[in-house]
Amino acid sequence: MLALSTAHDTALCDVLAAHGAPAWRARQLRRAAWRPQVSSFAEIADLPVALRQALAEEIRFSTVTVAGESPADQGLTFKLLARLPDGATVETVAMETPARGQSGRRSTICVSSQVGCAVGCPFCATGQLGLIRSCSAAEIVDQVRAAAAALTRHGLGPVTHVVYMGMGEPLLNSEATIESLRTLVRAGLSARRLTVSTSGVVPGIERLATTGLPVTLAISLHAATDDLRDRLVPLNRAYPLEQVLAAGTRYVTTRGRRLTFEWCLIGGVNDSLEQARMLRNLAREAHAHVNVIPMNRIDGSPWGPPSPAAARRFLAGLDGVRVTVRDTRGAESDAACGQLRAALERRRELRADGTLGPMKRPGAPGSRHAAGS
Ligand code: SAH
Ligand code: SF4
Repeated sequence: MLALSTAHDTALCDVLAAHGAPAWRARQLRRAAWRPQVSSFAEIADLPVALRQALAEEIRFSTVTVAGESPADQGLTFKLLARLPDGATVETVAMETPARGQSGRRSTICVSSQVGCAVGCPFCATGQLGLIRSCSAAEIVDQVRAAAAALTRHGLGPVTHVVYMGMGEPLLNSEATIESLRTLVRAGLSARRLTVSTSGVVPGIERLATTGLPVTLAISLHAATDDLRDRLVPLNRAYPLEQVLAAGTRYVTTRGRRLTFEWCLIGGVNDSLEQARMLRNLAREAHAHVNVIPMNRIDGSPWGPPSPAAARRFLAGLDGVRVTVRDTRGAESDAACGQLRAALERRRELRADGTLGPMKRPGAPGSRHAAGS
């Protein structure tokens, strides 16, 4: 079935023509698709009723239904459980950042690119799932539409940024990722405000560079030596640090974008001053910004965030480099990638068809926490 978000103009026009509707209605449909208040063809008031019904039979208005919503961070963050047409579920997060100092307000959506992930980083809840399947471009774009609608419902938005930092490895699903990026740009988002985060898929980084889109690239480094990175990001055995860094540098040279290095800071594992010093040198060389994310604990891993003293020592070792410490947004509601889904499954609240058991529904009264923890 055609998906409205990613259907080509010709395909949309063919369907319209088959129902005697003019081609200009395609533009009307695309606009309606991004109206947060509209969630089905039936609600597109400026279409003839018969056409609304006909389109609903041939085109999927959205590939995502919100199966659950979990607010956090005093109502500025919403974690959504997005159900896909086959019942698979992924997580999507919407975060509102109020204007502060010179930086304006932001509404950032974090999307999943795959159901599960094959890379298997031992600190990541999604990695524990293994790869179930990749998302289609429409499923990625529709997460943004669903999250944008959720923000509007709460009086927030509109969306300014999209980051591919949810479940999955976007560059092991690079064609769908690229198609979704193009679709988001066509819908009016600036490519510079789209960030693809990768664990270091070298051919994927190269493919992304060929698109001509000035998308921001974030590389999940987590270790500054191959020995340690082989353990933390198993893909490092296929694409060692030197190759990943070279691909990142080539990307920024061709695209003229700043590189970001992400570092999930794990107590006693990658928080030594020695690693910090090596990271500082790599970041200086690549003119990269460093994003430090204290590890969120996950089931089945003895690892966790560093002690405050170790975190301070690590950050002090990064002097001279632009560093942000990511606030663990949504920590109240099973924050990190894959954790909401894992928590729900554990409690058997997530049925095999992706629907939720007896718990909150979007907008249900008194439903503060999806995972209830
Ligand atoms: N697969 C891609 C994008 C999704 S993961 C990648 O690895 O870059 C997005 C980010 O979430 C990564 O930087 C990853 O390190 C981080 N992450 C995963 N599990 C985490 C955890 N338990 N605590 C903190 N950050 C985590
Ligand atoms: Fe996959 Fe990224 Fe999780 Fe690693 S951190 S298992 S690459 S989703």
